[in-house]
Amino acid sequence: MEEHKSTPAHIEMREKQYDELLRELHKGEKASAFDNALKQFDRAAKILKLTDNQVAVIKEPRRVTEVKLPVRMDDGSISIFKGYRVQHNIVRGPAKGGVRFHQDVNVEEVKALAFWMTYKCAVVNIPFGGGKGGVVVDPRKLSLSELERLARRYFAEMIDLFGPDKDIPAPDVNTNQQVMAWFMDTYSMHHQSHIPAVVTGKPIDLGGSRGRISATAQGMVYCVHNAVKHLKLNLKGATVAIQGFGNAGSFAAKFLHQDGCVIQAVSDIDGAFYCEKGIDPEEAIKHVQRAGTLKDFDKSAKVEKMSNPMELLELPVNILIPAALENQITEENADRVKAKIIAECANGPLTTEADDVMEQKGTFIIPDILCNAGGVTVSYFEWVQNRMGYYWNSDYVFSELKSYMDDAFEVVLDASINYKVPMRTAAFIVAIQRVTNVAEARGLYA
Ligand code: NAD
Repeated sequence: MEEHKSTPAHIEMREKQYDELLRELHKGEKASAFDNALKQFDRAAKILKLTDNQVAVIKEPRRVTEVKLPVRMDDGSISIFKGYRVQHNIVRGPAKGGVRFHQDVNVEEVKALAFWMTYKCAVVNIPFGGGKGGVVVDPRKLSLSELERLARRYFAEMIDLFGPDKDIPAPDVNTNQQVMAWFMDTYSMHHQSHIPAVVTGKPIDLGGSRGRISATAQGMVYCVHNAVKHLKLNLKGATVAIQGFGNAGSFAAKFLHQDGCVIQAVSDIDGAFYCEKGIDPEEAIKHVQRAGTLKDFDKSAKVEKMSNPMELLELPVNILIPAALENQITEENADRVKAKIIAECANGPLTTEADDVMEQKGTFIIPDILCNAGGVTVSYFEWVQNRMGYYWNSDYVFSELKSYMDDAFEVVLDASINYKVPMRTAAFIVAIQRVTNVAEARGLYA
């Protein structure tokens, strides 16, 4: 009979066989974003040798809330929408994270996004935990007044969860400064007080921070500068493709173009557009301002419409920027991705299987929890300014942002070199260690 060996090498071999078996069993099934997030956690937790108690306290969300939102439509009828708020972890500070309005929102996605917020705030070392919210709705199908009633109902329905010291929402996909203004007003009305620090990403006149609107892309650009320096590459003339041309993607195009990069392709929900010599981001931004999306951009500019928008991810560019949704690069298409650097403006654009393929190819990935942390960092500055009642100028905001992003990049790169792991696992190692230390100090493992 075969002896049942339990040396670390044998355990690792059995785990690998088990992983392969699971992969075979679930072939063809799409893993949820939350499954993906947990796998990323496990990789780092294993290296840190966390105890079961430690994992139990910081891995799963602390609170998941689901609400039904009745909203009167313009024609007098009532529609019921489903809304979520997940508070993943609050040991380092109040929950922080955006609210997404999208027809595909589901609880697993919101859990994943809240999870990433916990570790994102820890990577950049700001005193927040992680949260995220979502409403299942295609906002393009609502009038402005229907959207306002939905936003106010969402906030009012969960008002006890929110607060400057409890949980502070912000914009995410399909929510913007106007939605944040409605959230802030709803909360302030209910509390009969002026409370701007309950949400970030507000209009500047309402206590928003200078620089917030472009902060995610600006933070990504600081990371790209660091990556290019580390890899000894040249940013000037580097070719770039960007998936998603909303807040994060459009500013990413603008800033990298200003740095001398050639933006060869951009895409959004209505198509992907290519020009070998380079797309002028200002032209694309103006088109979106006029038309609402990139639809028909090839009719107003010298660009080609790509027949398959997903092929944007496979272009032979130096830098690829996913800035749309999760799970865009998977084991299906990862081996066709050619970029040298992937800068993740979006949350969770690569699955762990895709990560493995990219690692073998030597692609340098700037992981989401580091790369797009500029948004939450300036949200933190906004919260600080609201509480001080003293407002900073743009130069100060961006110099502080640069300092937070550069520090975070350096710490993650050091961990990547020291532990001999890719940047994503390194970022989780740094973040999990910080969350664990605070949980330990607070006695949560007692
Ligand atoms: P947004 O709503 O402003 O833009 C999203 C863009 O993605 C739109 O152009 C939309 O058309 C496009 N898109 C949607 N589905 C697509 C598809 N299948 N293919 C191509 N494009 C598609 O949202 P945003 O704020 O720019 O956020 C984009 C990503 O960045 C999200 O993953 C979000 O979580 C992440 N992020 C945003 C911020 C921020 O401050 N805005 C901060 C951190 C992370």
